[in-house]
Amino acid sequence: MADLHLHSVHSDGTESPAEVMRCAFAHGVRTAALTDHDRISGWSEAAGAALGLGMTFLPGMELSMKTELRTLHMLAYLFDPDNAPLRAEADRIRRDRVERAQRMVRRIGKDHHIRWDDVISAAPEGATIGRPHIADALVARGIVSTRGEAFTEILDPGSRYYEPLYAPDPLTAVRLITNAGGVAIAAHPVTSGPESFLSRKEIDELIEAGLGGFEIDHRDNTPDGKAMLQAIADEHDLIVTGASDYHGDGKPNVPGENSTTQEMIARIIERATGTAPRFPDARNIVQRSDDRA
Ligand code: AMP
Ligand code: FE
Ligand code: FE
Ligand code: ZN
Repeated sequence: MADLHLHSVHSDGTESPAEVMRCAFAHGVRTAALTDHDRISGWSEAAGAALGLGMTFLPGMELSMKTELRTLHMLAYLFDPDNAPLRAEADRIRRDRVERAQRMVRRIGKDHHIRWDDVISAAPEGATIGRPHIADALVARGIVSTRGEAFTEILDPGSRYYEPLYAPDPLTAVRLITNAGGVAIAAHPVTSGPESFLSRKEIDELIEAGLGGFEIDHRDNTPDGKAMLQAIADEHDLIVTGASDYHGDGKPNVPGENSTTQEMIARIIERATGTAPRFPDARNIVQRSDDRA
């Protein structure tokens, strides 16, 4: 089984990268990618744990992006971690994430007993700050009982407390990832909620710009949407993946609940030029300087 979408405490998951890999292994996953939001600092710990368990590890990231209407996510695999433009963009998003979360907390604080300190206490040190950490602070304060409830009651984009996040547009995101030697796979592109994806025209533009494919088997994608994406993927011979989007205790998603075929993993590896996958044996010969935050 291969699960190419997992989050750790380096973004908004609740487990360390090593714990995430151990959990994935326990669920039968043998090829795994760590895809923290806008961040690669968990790679080296995850790779060490994965290889120790005999798993194959694909370094990844889930890059934030947005259109006029909504926030979207692009999965990126095997890109060069030293690529300056991609690094700079991820840094910029993370910086804005903190300011945006502060703005949201100020708004929420007018109606509920919550302050920025509560978010700092709720978030693991160095995490990519996001609404999930505001949710954790709301839970800690007893204002709601779960992350899920916080999202529906307070953190939803339709809520008066919501603040937009800086993020590149999808075309820029695909170009940044592709120019860094990575493979761009649109994350959960056809959900039914406010985070649903793009028009056919926009998708065609992304394919033109180098989009590698779609994450189709994801619990938030609608059946109709999956069929639509599969048809586009067949037409353009694109990569399709399946994954859990595991966030530890932060979401009900379980590692290995969806899987990516070996054929598709081989295609991702073949297409990428940024960094090598980490294999659990002598094939793991390429080491690059991707162990920094
Ligand atoms: P942000 O990037 O700060 O806008 O927050 C978006 C993140 O919130 C996503 O990456 C999800 O992991 C998380 N999220 C969205 N909806 C929910 C939910 N209902 N329950 C728990 N986590 C959620
Ligand atoms: Fe997340
Ligand atoms: Fe996502
Ligand atoms: Zn995700």
